[in-house]
Amino acid sequence: MARKRLVAGNWKLYGSVAQVQDFSAALKQGLQSASVDAELLVCPPYPYLAQMQALLLEADVNVGAQNLAEPAGPGAYTGEVSATMLADIGCSYVIVGHSERRQLYAEDDTAVAAKFARAQDAGLTPILCVGETLEQRESGAMQEVLRRQLGTVLAECGVAAFKRAVVAYEPVWAIGTGRTASPEQAQEAHAFLRAQVSAEDATIGSELSILYGGSVKPDNAAQLFACEDVDGGLIGGASLEAESLLAIARV
Ligand code: PEP
Repeated sequence: MARKRLVAGNWKLYGSVAQVQDFSAALKQGLQSASVDAELLVCPPYPYLAQMQALLLEADVNVGAQNLAEPAGPGAYTGEVSATMLADIGCSYVIVGHSERRQLYAEDDTAVAAKFARAQDAGLTPILCVGETLEQRESGAMQEVLRRQLGTVLAECGVAAFKRAVVAYEPVWAIGTGRTASPEQAQEAHAFLRAQVSAEDATIGSELSILYGGSVKPDNAAQLFACEDVDGGLIGGASLEAESLLAIARV
């Protein structure tokens, strides 16, 4: 089965009611004038999920969350948002293990695996982010880091869980820095990740979508997406404008 291209926007801590309105209108208009040969997904902050979901419903654009609570809930977990709630308001995807969550909120591999499982239990497709820091790359530990981050989820959730999951390779040194991985660097990491899944199940490995994330822009997306094992992108900064997200999806 051919792997579907997915172009996903991660708005991080940006956005407002007005921005969601303008973005959604521009995205719909852009899609009316020409469709895209990729599945589109946008992940705004929690307060804007329902608004964006309603505005983009007809445009066939998916909406997802950037994080979810580790406990399944319901329960006494002040400030948390559960996978069940995200599914209830129409989310289809959720990002887990983004490097900002790992670094700023101390989410370790076990917590990431638990969130991955929670997402699937609620019917959401998790987008599992993995990637090495610059220091790890420069010390030759890239493969070891990827093996551990992906391996923990494989061990905790089982390879069958990857039938309904997406992996995003996001080298930490490329996120928000303007320093994109070269197509060769991206391909090497993506092939390594796919081989790790394929070693447990060849079909699941070959059908798994693996996105690249890290300073993807309209002018570098084509080269990255042309790599054999790159199935689309997880886009931060360039996803805040409908025009640039569409330009990336159209390469
Ligand atoms: C991200 O937020 O996951 C990301 C890849 O950001 P940027 O595209 O801005 O580097």
